[in-house]
Amino acid sequence: MSIETTIGTRKLVSINPATGEILREFECATELDVLEAVRRARTAQRSWQDAPLRHRLAILRAFQQLLNERKREVARTITSEAGKPIVEALLTEILVVLDACRFLLQESHGFLREEAVPHGSLATKAKRGRLIRDPYGVMGIISPWNYPFSIPATETLAALVTGNAVVLKPSELTSLSSLELASLLHDAGLPESVFQIIVGDGPTGAALVESGIDKLVFTGSVATGKRMAQSAAARLLPVVLELGGKDPMIVLDDADVDVASSGAVWGGFVNAGQACLSVERCYVHRSIYDRFVFACAEKAKQLRVGNGLNEDTDVGPMIHERQLRTVEQQVENARSGGARVVIGGERLGSIGPNFYAPTVLAEVTHEMRVMRDETFGPVLPIMAFDSDAEGVRLANDSEYGLAASVWTRDRGRGENIARQINAGTVMVNDAVSCFAISEAPHGGVKASGIGRTHGRFGLEEMVRIKYLDSDLVPGIKKPWWYGYGPTKAVEGFLDFQFARGLMQRLRGGMSSISLLTRRKL
Ligand code: NAD
Repeated sequence: MSIETTIGTRKLVSINPATGEILREFECATELDVLEAVRRARTAQRSWQDAPLRHRLAILRAFQQLLNERKREVARTITSEAGKPIVEALLTEILVVLDACRFLLQESHGFLREEAVPHGSLATKAKRGRLIRDPYGVMGIISPWNYPFSIPATETLAALVTGNAVVLKPSELTSLSSLELASLLHDAGLPESVFQIIVGDGPTGAALVESGIDKLVFTGSVATGKRMAQSAAARLLPVVLELGGKDPMIVLDDADVDVASSGAVWGGFVNAGQACLSVERCYVHRSIYDRFVFACAEKAKQLRVGNGLNEDTDVGPMIHERQLRTVEQQVENARSGGARVVIGGERLGSIGPNFYAPTVLAEVTHEMRVMRDETFGPVLPIMAFDSDAEGVRLANDSEYGLAASVWTRDRGRGENIARQINAGTVMVNDAVSCFAISEAPHGGVKASGIGRTHGRFGLEEMVRIKYLDSDLVPGIKKPWWYGYGPTKAVEGFLDFQFARGLMQRLRGGMSSISLLTRRKL
């Protein structure tokens, strides 16, 4: 989708990136539309929260069934709009969402059950503590274009089952995929005001942040994420920020070169490299470096680049010309700095407007932009290292910390290295697929973001913790209220609980009894 400004209103044009064909035109929602959507959501949210959980889960189950039934048409919409191969639309979008439903159907009852908080201190033994998980109210979700269905859907479903209403602003490039989500949810029985979509661009998203929502879940670039954090800080608006990555892949000297090179090629080129978790820099032990580079180039050569709607396509187009130029500039910067373009390194204009050849770069250095900035394109830069310690140091030498992977035949060794890497997720002998594990928390450290989506930690982001404290002996005044006496009684109580020697504790117990016979007040 691209944006045209007309007098008064802004228009979005949905475009198929593989062909340039216009799919649909939209008008951006105005600030007033955004405010009205949030107002309606707030009104509807109360009864949604009060409905029994089994009612919310019945709608989720109906949504899961409908999505499975309509998977082909939803996958076609995703591919037409985002360009990815249709098999990826099924695997990395629809399967991920169906499985997220399975997870929420299994886990929501346990998650939302009140949780006892046993008290350890003698002073508070006569109270009963519990945790209650309340929904925030209206969740604002702002999402990117690269996984236009699974990212907003997994966040939305977690927000809905926990009793929130949702107002979603999808990427201006991929509104159609989110509209599919809305029509599936509404057909499954979800009240329209509980989940609304506001179609629009950056300013529409900014209006949502300022609209009075109760929490923001933002997924997108670091630059926009920083702006979100600033606006949210001014309102003390809680946020989850799922931002960019520069994920390293470390291939140890004992790795299976055939397996690891297949992993690198898939991890680097899946969704034409436009995945937040894609392999963006590859470090390979010098003893296997040449073999590894050769294997990657051979495998990249066999990839079929084309329109994602053809079932025999492995790599689709990039989302738009701007993204393609970023990739070209980074490859040019590496080439002029002495990197070797082993394969690719060029546009494939004969196929369509936004195609770039899967590219393998060797002899890159850590100063090159392709090893420092997020590339978000089908480029696999490969660098040699000499020791495990150097591999870890290079992997950690980045402003990002979303995910990483370690490749080895020795799982224990791989896990030991994984523990030393500063990232939200580290996979041993796989990459990218952690996003599809519904139980696994997703999110980054450093510039890659704040907070988590998916799994139990993702659910925790959707609720406010309320601590409920009930006194079991309401007829007794508490010894810590006014009526203060000599400090000896308090000191005795502290000794009774915390002193080391038995005699001292017994003495403490005796002297603290006077806490119970205090001045009347
Ligand atoms: P982007 O930051 O350009 O846009 C993301 C969303 O923010 C869009 O909906 C956009 O309209 C909106 N937006 C833009 N300016 C805004 C503003 N001022 N106020 C409010 N909203 C605004 O990112 P993108 O190009 O759509 O997505 C690609 C980026 O997203 C990459 O950096 C990628 O790594 C990252 N990403 C991260 C994850 C993750 O889970 N960590 C997942 C997917 C993508």
